[in-house]
Amino acid sequence: MNKIISDFLKEIDKRNSHEPEFMQAVREVSEDLIPYIVSQDIYHGKNILMRMCEPERVVMFRVNWIDDKGEIRVNRGYRVEMNSAIGPYKGGLRFHPTVNLSILKFLAFEQVFKNSLTTLPMGGGKGGADFDPRDKSDGEVMRFCQSFMTELFRHIGPNTDIPAGDIGVGGREIGYMFGQYKRLKNEFTGVLTGKGVSWGGSLIRPEATGYGTVYFAEDMFNHEGKSIIGKTVTISGSGNVAQYAAEKCIQLGATVISMSDSSGFIHDKEGIDEEKLSFIMDLKNNKRKRISEYLKKYPNAKFEKGKRPWSLECDVALPCATQNEVSESDAKLLIKNGCKCVAEGANMPCESGAIKQFKLNKILYAPGKASNAGGVAVSGLEMAQNSLRYSWTREEVDQKLKEIMINIHKSCLEYGKGKDFVDYNKGANISAFIKVADAMLAQGVV
Ligand code: NDP
Repeated sequence: MNKIISDFLKEIDKRNSHEPEFMQAVREVSEDLIPYIVSQDIYHGKNILMRMCEPERVVMFRVNWIDDKGEIRVNRGYRVEMNSAIGPYKGGLRFHPTVNLSILKFLAFEQVFKNSLTTLPMGGGKGGADFDPRDKSDGEVMRFCQSFMTELFRHIGPNTDIPAGDIGVGGREIGYMFGQYKRLKNEFTGVLTGKGVSWGGSLIRPEATGYGTVYFAEDMFNHEGKSIIGKTVTISGSGNVAQYAAEKCIQLGATVISMSDSSGFIHDKEGIDEEKLSFIMDLKNNKRKRISEYLKKYPNAKFEKGKRPWSLECDVALPCATQNEVSESDAKLLIKNGCKCVAEGANMPCESGAIKQFKLNKILYAPGKASNAGGVAVSGLEMAQNSLRYSWTREEVDQKLKEIMINIHKSCLEYGKGKDFVDYNKGANISAFIKVADAMLAQGVV
């Protein structure tokens, strides 16, 4: 079996050796999927995994815009349309200086599996640009978004490809891009999700990824007859996912002791309560300042510059910032300090060595494609509401989100349950694969 896996990876590597994040994502699923594929006659001779590793289409384009000083700036835009076997391409847009083809291909590849797990009819895609909105004025962000959409609009549509937000793309950016799409197409359609509630957005969409991650962690605890209530939680990030993961932990009665940004992390031993969290939300969403400012208001907390919060004693860790933010040594430290559960709010935040440690030590570990699928699930519900020209209440959407997370948990159990340990990664990979692969087989060699 090891030879089949290594031959497969060598073949993929020939075309993608310069794309380390993409290779990491492919390697991680192949180890679970290839033994399964070999055991199932229907997939023999179909080269199905190789086909899933090649994007159906990649668009790369120049984005020119003019900054506040009147200077012409140039960025690079992308959309990776990975797989449309079970529905139109769906996945976020990331605006961050580190964005490149490798990162977007890994995200698009993961998205195919994640969207399949939601049971909603959505294929997978991802896009973005190497643009940094953090140090730009509102006017600059608007001009960039308009220029970006002036090219992207010809490749997307409500039945073709429906982007959403991701790192650096929140309500403000979605608004500017939606406005430009509407102007260019002269159509008011649900082409983007994460829209404002008064113009086609869904209630609970901003909360969905963070809430869903905590619902999934609670489902894992419940399966063991335990609960997240009373647990101590470390969270990384202080953006959309981290904020609402923290909110749900607080609501459920857990104690959140850390949040972070790319400059370092804050440690508040007394716990970040609702009032402190709303201070962080205002700081990050409206004032667009650094997390270290938390200490000006709450001087009992500590700020650890340039570090991540994995050295803290905790029961639960929720990495909600970015890829590869938990190394193998971080994982060892978390386990040593009593961590029992890791649920990924971010995409691929744990390096392979860290995942190996979680499995070895039988820690409850949920891969992002399962635990953070709540965001895209509610995006799918936003699309359904747009098609119906109707809006569900907050309670209705939250209820549907909870049910979707429970069903994803069940799917993981179906293929991941062992004697005394659930391999959620394996369960998620196989369960997601089956739906996409069977649709591809039914649709022929296209
Ligand atoms: P935001 O832009 O709202 O927040 C990102 C947070 O992560 C910020 O606190 C940011 O700090 C921090 N961060 C970003 N890059 C780094 C880095 N290289 N090192 C340390 N910290 C970093 O993004 P989201 O909350 O939307 O996304 C977070 C993660 O969740 C991503 O992996 C994304 O792909 C994933 N995700 C998001 C979904 C969504 O619905 N938004 C859905 C599913 C997954 P700073 O402000 O300093 O940059």
